[in-house]
Amino acid sequence: MFRKVAIIGGGAAAATLVSELLERRTTQPLHLYWYTGDGSGRGIAYGTRSPHHLLNVRAASMGMFASKPQGFLEYAQAADPTVSGSDFLPRRLYGEYLESRVAQAMAKASASGHEVRQIPFTVDSLVPEPSGVTVGYGDESNQTDAAVLAIGSLPPRSLPGVDADVIASGRYITDPWPFLANAEPDERPLRVLVIGLGLTAVDVLLDLSERWPNATFTALSRHGLLPEAHLSAASAPAGDGAELVEALEDDPNIRMWIARLREATEHADDWRVVTDSLRSVTSKLWTLLPDEQRSRFLRHARWAWERARHRMPPQVAESIAAMEKAGRFLRGRGRMQTVKLADDGSLSVTRVKPGGVKETASFDVVVQTVGLNTDTLRTEHPLVRQLVTNGHARPEALGLGFAAQANGALLDGDGKPRPNLFAIGTLLRGALWESTAMPEIRVQARNLADTLLRDQG
Ligand SMILES: Cc1cc2nc3c(=O)[nH]c(=O)nc-3n(C[C@H](O)[C@H](O)[C@H](O)COP(=O)(O)OP(=O)(O)OC[C@H]3O[C@@H](n4cnc5c(N)ncnc54)[C@H](O)[C@@H]3O)c2cc1C
Repeated sequence: MFRKVAIIGGGAAAATLVSELLERRTTQPLHLYWYTGDGSGRGIAYGTRSPHHLLNVRAASMGMFASKPQGFLEYAQAADPTVSGSDFLPRRLYGEYLESRVAQAMAKASASGHEVRQIPFTVDSLVPEPSGVTVGYGDESNQTDAAVLAIGSLPPRSLPGVDADVIASGRYITDPWPFLANAEPDERPLRVLVIGLGLTAVDVLLDLSERWPNATFTALSRHGLLPEAHLSAASAPAGDGAELVEALEDDPNIRMWIARLREATEHADDWRVVTDSLRSVTSKLWTLLPDEQRSRFLRHARWAWERARHRMPPQVAESIAAMEKAGRFLRGRGRMQTVKLADDGSLSVTRVKPGGVKETASFDVVVQTVGLNTDTLRTEHPLVRQLVTNGHARPEALGLGFAAQANGALLDGDGKPRPNLFAIGTLLRGALWESTAMPEIRVQARNLADTLLRDQG
């Protein structure tokens, strides 16, 4: 087993792995060095204070430990017995749950001889060698046996076509989360454009429409479609989906998979039942797809899968529908081509509509919400750049994080798995595809804890 382990990241994935490790009985005490950067264990998703930001996964599925998927539900019910497993609870409450479980695991750990040092620093460099990993932060460095990157997704980059003076104006928002955390109330009749229409766009719309009561919103995406909504009650899979999974496994081909899914949907009470029945096997199915089929999926089917997989709670869908009905929110199809600063100070946005027609409109604020950045080759993230530039880790071929094994071991420049450098979470998308939400992260944390604590022989 690795006795000295560095865990890098201040979000839910790091918190889950630390707690999972501390809960284990080991033959020798563990020394964990937890570099939390600017996070507190809640990360972006659960650091919100807004009561409107709801979990998009039901309470019964949000437990932090793979061995106790109902853990969050029990926590919530201890404070409010009326909470049900099918509820979508505030993300703020989930942040409290994470913190309380970490505190519990830490208290237990000292009793079993484990040591955890929480280091509120950003790690700048990792140098893996056969004897261990050197962790560099500021002017300090530390020698550990192994290191785990739990750094979430990469900082978003502005889309091509946005002029430098637009960025300098401060009214083109590339990263919505710090912006939402600090956006002041404003009574002006602002015209806001949101680029992208996933769950982040939905959060932005709900949040800003309240803080900016006289603003109007337009959202632009390739298909102009919102994420699908969850049913109000949990939809139980009709069977175990084994037959469908077997058919998909037999022929790993995207066109065939879409046909099979359509067929299964026709026979189900609701299409969500089919999508949900695949959740626990999605990563396994992804590993069966050859690269060329994966890029086909990314080009043609990804948007539809994301809409169906990452759904809005019903009450959120109702709020958005009410905004549309009241004329405060419009959806448009197309691709943003340019954003320029106009003479009157507004942001002039040209989009290309389906069919190639261009249209230009003026906005006061533009918020970019185009999904998670996992491009490790082109990122400015200092630690990721250091790892890639020095050949310690390799970008995944399709831009989906790091090249890695399914157990999280990063591949070196020659494509060999590193024995002591791992990742968990979004940057494993290339290896696992679904690798961002808690139901997947907790399973990764359990498996990674097994790997880290396994007898090295
Ligand atoms: C708005 C939103 C809502 C979501 N809702 C849900 C939901 O309802 N259910 C669900 O299951 N999932 C949800 N998710 C998915 C969510 O991403 C995961 O559940 C989880 O929060 C991911 O945590 P993470 O630790 O991997 O990443 P993050 O939360 O991004 O944390 C990464 C941390 O690492 C730190 N870091 C980066 N680089 C370094 C470094 N060099 N040194 C030290 N620290 C560093 C960062 O500062 C950050 O604190 C949501 C995501 C978002 C963005």
